[in-house]
Amino acid sequence: MATPENKLAFDDGWQYSPAPESTDHVRIKKKYDLFIGGDFVKPEKGRYFDTINPATEEVISRVALAADADVDKAVKAARKAYPGWSRMKAAERGKYIYRIARILQERSREFAAIESLDGGKPIRESRDVDVPLAAAHFFYYAGWADKLEYAFPGRNVKPLGVAGQIIPWNFPLLMAAWKIAPALACGNTVVIKPAETTPLTAMKLAEVIADAGLPPGVVNIITGAGETGAAIVNHPGVDKIAFTGSTSVGRIIQKALAGTRKHYTLELGGKAANIIFADAAIDQAVEGIVNGIFFNQGHVCCAGSRLFVQESVADRVIQKLKDRMETLIVGDPLDKNTDIGAINSQEQLATIRSYLKVGQDEGGEMFQSSCRIPKKGYWCRPTIFTGVSQSNRVVQEEIFGPVLAIQTFRTYNEAISKANNTPYGLSGGIWTDKGSKIFKMTQSVRAGVVWANTFNKFDPTSPFGGYKESGVGREGGLHGLDAYLKLEA
Ligand code: NAP
Ligand code: MG
Repeated sequence: MATPENKLAFDDGWQYSPAPESTDHVRIKKKYDLFIGGDFVKPEKGRYFDTINPATEEVISRVALAADADVDKAVKAARKAYPGWSRMKAAERGKYIYRIARILQERSREFAAIESLDGGKPIRESRDVDVPLAAAHFFYYAGWADKLEYAFPGRNVKPLGVAGQIIPWNFPLLMAAWKIAPALACGNTVVIKPAETTPLTAMKLAEVIADAGLPPGVVNIITGAGETGAAIVNHPGVDKIAFTGSTSVGRIIQKALAGTRKHYTLELGGKAANIIFADAAIDQAVEGIVNGIFFNQGHVCCAGSRLFVQESVADRVIQKLKDRMETLIVGDPLDKNTDIGAINSQEQLATIRSYLKVGQDEGGEMFQSSCRIPKKGYWCRPTIFTGVSQSNRVVQEEIFGPVLAIQTFRTYNEAISKANNTPYGLSGGIWTDKGSKIFKMTQSVRAGVVWANTFNKFDPTSPFGGYKESGVGREGGLHGLDAYLKLEA
């Protein structure tokens, strides 16, 4: 990790001494076992894998690789805990969830630093967005635990059983909170698997759950690879699968679950349209474009990765955007001034680079900011493509990096038809001065979330989820409870 004494070398030979967040308060073990039945246990086959810091390529820690036998053990622990947890007085269940929320808040600085170390995101984002929002999800669902009959009046509410949960690497702690909090509030028990490249905050959360005194087996956290996720999906002792990740893996899971009695929710990819009308407040819209695509290096399923600008203001918006891109700082995720951190993994960087080539080969004009990037680690300058059309792959496919495809439109109807011309339907954004246009647009854009004059704003009270190839089901808010309950008349 870079320290003030430890200069950071850049690709052009320039050196810079960053002022990173202190990591004195961060405790990371050399090795993490699996959290099963309330204990940290060794994996049956004794296998571990490295988790690295994508900003330095250094190994941070080793984590257990759970195989089928470990998944089986975790599911059995969750099954054993289920009768006690589901029959516990609901207000008591709520107290445990409140406790998790409070401990998370108390340890927020440590969680933020670990999230940035393990995943590459800027400390400003993990500190101000990921960790507080994760705590907010636990607080919000803790409040529902003893009010489920009021959430669904006249219905008999029952938990589903054991929830198997599989999460991605882009918001590791936050996705764990999205999954665990509603499941517990509804009386389910949990087996959750974090992504391979970002297991550390999940293992820290295991410590919080142990410290909160939850009964053993209510939450089991197992690290591993794709096969570990598949073993959870296919285990007969699991009653519900909650998955967030790529559409391709989502498809495999949906096929595996077809014909079984298992419930499921799938949060998959996206290619959101961010639409700027000529009557929008242009400077604010430019900030919204930047936030929409460069937040979390563009590793965001709801990123505003397709920009549509009304023709009369297109030149002005694009010039302002380029000027703004030149001010963005790419570098040390632990530096509070950093705007864009490290790309999560070498593999993801290779994917992004392949799209940069595809975009140019398709005839798109690529612009990247001229910022320096460190020599070691995985980095991508903020990038835009102009001169692209609907059929181009950089317009159609999810890149999951800081890469924006820009198109223009003349009329309202043209904007809508272009925005909806995608297999995805997760999110969208509209920038205009007219309330009536917002009202009409939000009903016409086929997406689970549509932001107006803002972007990438999240709240635990609000449902989130997609249409078409962006997934099945909703998380967050009341809808998020529904996904973990059997509602009987
Ligand atoms: P992914 O392969 O779908 O991984 C998501 C989670 O599923 C991870 O925990 C992964 O484990 C696990 N997994 C992998 N194969 C599985 C299988 N056959 N059965 C069950 N679980 C399985 O996504 P990724 O590789 O992390 O990223 C690839 C692409 O997915 C990205 O480029 C992006 O397009 C998309 N993505 C979307 C979101 C979103 O929020 N919508 C989030 C992340 C990624 P391992 O990590 O151990 O492989
Ligand atoms: Mg890592």
